[in-house]
Amino acid sequence: MLEMEDIWAGYDEQPVVKGVSLKVQKHEKVVIMGPSGSGKSTLLKTAVLLVKPFKGRIYLDGEELTAENVDLRAARAKTGFVFQSYNLFPHLKVIDNITLPLRIVKGYTREEAIKKALEVLEEVNLRGFEEKYPLQLSGGQQQRVAIARALAMDPILLLLDEPTSALDPELKAEVLDTLKEVARRGIAMLAVTHELDFTKEIADRVIIMEDGAIVESGQAKEVLENPSTERTRKFLRLIQ
Ligand code: ADP
Ligand code: MG
Repeated sequence: MLEMEDIWAGYDEQPVVKGVSLKVQKHEKVVIMGPSGSGKSTLLKTAVLLVKPFKGRIYLDGEELTAENVDLRAARAKTGFVFQSYNLFPHLKVIDNITLPLRIVKGYTREEAIKKALEVLEEVNLRGFEEKYPLQLSGGQQQRVAIARALAMDPILLLLDEPTSALDPELKAEVLDTLKEVARRGIAMLAVTHELDFTKEIADRVIIMEDGAIVESGQAKEVLENPSTERTRKFLRLIQ
């Protein structure tokens, strides 16, 4: 599904991801945790070449994204990306936020796009909100629209970057419930999150990053309940 091999990436020639290799298999849910600034967001963005790695290879669905002349738009269309800050278009209604990428990237007709948008809004429990503007919605509802927009593309891999960390506790729950539903559909996920209960419930594997490198990787239960380094133990105590 996704394979990253010895990835070095960063900004202005300064690496912030330093030799990371990871795989996400079909249907697998992988959660990345780690202190702020450890390179988690950069790693996620590198997975779909929103950040171009200095070194290393990336394969998505059997295609090498780091090869020359790759159609990155087509490759990215196989993935969905949900950011911490929703990233909806504020001047577009909910329905248009979802149909626009379908029309541009997938070439759907207006009717096809609307049909699909209504389906995914149903999935995130937001039928009836089509005509609202993002700022008329709560943060949790906006994030569920962002999830619906990602799902509308029928992605084989969903990338989530701290999807609930901007939300008040009472709004977190509704977004986490939506994501648990999505996880049950069998889609592969690579998610940065520090939500421990959510992680225990959905993750097949947990990866801990520190200073641009993977310091711990294993089954969620093992890593979370019995981490192998003192550093990880300290980090996990901080996020309890
Ligand atoms: P995390 O998501 O784990 O908090 P990031 O990948 O966002 O880590 O950041 C890793 C490092 O890269 C940090 O030192 C951050 O300041 C730096 N960084 C992130 N994005 C940019 C950017 N667009 N330009 C320059 N530096 C960046
Ligand atoms: Mg981040």
